[in-house]
Amino acid sequence: MRSETTMGLEDIRARLANAERTAGRAPGSVTLIAVSKVQPLERVEAVLEEGQRIFGENKVQEAAGKWPAFRERFGEVELHLIGPLQSNKSRQAVELFDAIHSLDRPKLARRLADHAQERGACPDLFIQVNTGEEVQKAGVLPAEVDAFIAECRGMDLPVRGLMCIPPVEETPSLHFALLAKIAARNGLAGLSMGMSDDFEQAVALGATHVRVGSAIFGTRSYG
Ligand SMILES: *Cc1c(COP(=O)(O)O)cnc(C)c1O
Repeated sequence: MRSETTMGLEDIRARLANAERTAGRAPGSVTLIAVSKVQPLERVEAVLEEGQRIFGENKVQEAAGKWPAFRERFGEVELHLIGPLQSNKSRQAVELFDAIHSLDRPKLARRLADHAQERGACPDLFIQVNTGEEVQKAGVLPAEVDAFIAECRGMDLPVRGLMCIPPVEETPSLHFALLAKIAARNGLAGLSMGMSDDFEQAVALGATHVRVGSAIFGTRSYG
């Protein structure tokens, strides 16, 4: 019997393929990150059983509690950190994650550069841009991002692209277009943008990574 979670994954895969086609993008050119934060383990397991191997988590601690065991059972899993990263958790983060989408300040960049040097390896990095200039939201301000990208490159960090989370009450496509413009002028290929409610618009505007949680797994219940 198919679980609801399995059907959620199938549906999102089909919609993503459709969005790629409509946008004239190559099939499979957009990476689907299944955001498993807060989800019951059996839902995550169902999606692993369906062959999904790329997941997103927003907390280091939570990810450390579930992914080592899943990796043991299911083999290689690509893990993306999509939530804010405290500098004192950066070492654990580089050990656990294949990509970090929330690089947003010089202190964190320096920490990551130190770990990279020690390890001889570094996760792929995305710089988070606060495109809506919201006070409560993490991310580099649009006016400061070119300088920050240059600073990170100066530390030899593997900056692959940019990430944004548009303000809830605004048209997301304006923010996606702004992020794409900043990436293009800085020669960055990666665009991490688009969630359950707006990933098709993000694909139309050039997303290379979409982060979809509730549309795959169902509503998250906190508490
Ligand atoms: C939770 C989260 C998502 C997924 O959100 P959904 O609306 O459930 O698809 C994507 N990106 C970030 C940064 C998140 O924290």
